[in-house]
Amino acid sequence: MNMLSSELICAVLESAPDAMLLVDRSGAICFANKHVTELFGHPHDALVGEPVEVLVPQRFRGAHVTDREHYQKSGRSRPMGSGLILYGLRADGTEFPVEISLSHVVCEPDYFVVAAIRDMTSHLRVEHELQQAREHADRANQAKSRFLATASHDLRQPLQSLSLLAGTLRRLAAGPEAREAVESLELAIRTMSRLVNALLDVSKLEAGKIKPDIRDFPLAPLLRELETEFAGAARGKGIGLAIDTTGESAHSDPLLVGQILRNLLSNAVRYTSTGAVTLSCRRDGDALRVEVRDTGIGIPPDQLAYIYDEFYQVGVQPNAAREGYGLGLSIVQRLVDLLKLRIDVTSEVGRGSTFTVKLPRAGAAALTGAARATEGTLQARTEAEGRQHLLLIEDDAAVLNATRLLLRTEGYRVTATSSAEEAVRRATESGDIDVIVSDVHLGNGSNGFDAVASIRTALGCPTKAILVTGDTTSAMDEQCQAGPALRLVRKPIAADELLATLRELLDA
Ligand code: ADP
Repeated sequence: MNMLSSELICAVLESAPDAMLLVDRSGAICFANKHVTELFGHPHDALVGEPVEVLVPQRFRGAHVTDREHYQKSGRSRPMGSGLILYGLRADGTEFPVEISLSHVVCEPDYFVVAAIRDMTSHLRVEHELQQAREHADRANQAKSRFLATASHDLRQPLQSLSLLAGTLRRLAAGPEAREAVESLELAIRTMSRLVNALLDVSKLEAGKIKPDIRDFPLAPLLRELETEFAGAARGKGIGLAIDTTGESAHSDPLLVGQILRNLLSNAVRYTSTGAVTLSCRRDGDALRVEVRDTGIGIPPDQLAYIYDEFYQVGVQPNAAREGYGLGLSIVQRLVDLLKLRIDVTSEVGRGSTFTVKLPRAGAAALTGAARATEGTLQARTEAEGRQHLLLIEDDAAVLNATRLLLRTEGYRVTATSSAEEAVRRATESGDIDVIVSDVHLGNGSNGFDAVASIRTALGCPTKAILVTGDTTSAMDEQCQAGPALRLVRKPIAADELLATLRELLDA
């Protein structure tokens, strides 16, 4: 190295922000800047002439010599030990993590390696703390999910009993005060049921328990159903409701798409006090754009990013009295992700909001044979039978009692059983069951579908049945649709709903 270039190089290395070393072909240190002194604790000139391995912990020295020779042959600049944590050795014998990048300087006949060394102690500490914080947050999130799943699941049974008992009470209550008290009781139960159902939906989606059943389906029946469902609420608020019953067919899961649109319409009606809510559907290439538009209060632009978060409500303080729970749109977002759809929102405060869901359009053969077959199955009815003897199967004693009481109050003859085996035995003994009302999950691994099948086999006829379930997966619905005279109702079911389903089935 001639004098000028040597001085120049040393001056440049001295002014560098990192610890810089110049090492010659033999591995001896020719230059170390002041940061090396600060970092490694050796006096400024003490390192010159020493092998670079004095800065390397003893256990890595052998490998370091080999690596250094290898590096000289490769002739490429690169970070050292990429992907590994490297350690430096201080003069006092302590070690610390370092990041090193290497480059070659060739001034024939000399050859040098320049090493830039950075202390990684605080970087690694921050990374470690971040990692710990992330793990802590993950554990807290999992605990929340477990709590949500257990609490909502365990709340469902007592709610089911309460709901049926309140329905019975309404039928027995004499006098306007008693009836008013029962009405308030039923309202409270309905509100609680809505929350429990929403929590269950969130926890099931979170646990990946809902498996979509993607197929071609016509939108019109779903849209007509939604129109019937929301007409009353819109009328009650004095706002218009226009739902376009398009002839288009989509390719997705009809039940889950229904759940998305139901949540969007429910919000649109809830947050609108004048004007109208409209649902329109139009083609957009291979997709269908389903728009739920309202003329309601709108959402401030800075809040749009948060509305899909769980329990988030615009402008509502935690613990304040409020309508809704801030779960609807988080369920929508999870369903949209599950179905690989897209949802967009535009909104203007005081003018209204538009939520747009993009669905894949069904192929040309929109109404597939399968869809038609399903319609046919749904319409299939067994012959009506004259007598009204109900067979109840429910392994929860409180729910069994509440259901029996309700059905007896309504004038049905009821045989109550707590297991599939007992039900088959009692059905065979009596031989005249009109409808089986069974829980789906019966404990001991048995289920209501199998119980119904066994009873039908034992009686030799397709006995009508209602299955009560907390499970809303599409697979369940499909199983239900697969058999004629089989209805699936969701827990917690209101007394009126259970009785209406029963009457419908008996009249069919
Ligand atoms: P909530 O049960 O409170 O309606 P959501 O998760 O469905 O919960 O919605 C989250 C929040 O987004 C709501 O509390 C509301 O502030 C806002 N929001 C949702 N939809 C609309 C809408 N159509 N118009 C105005 N605000 C809306």
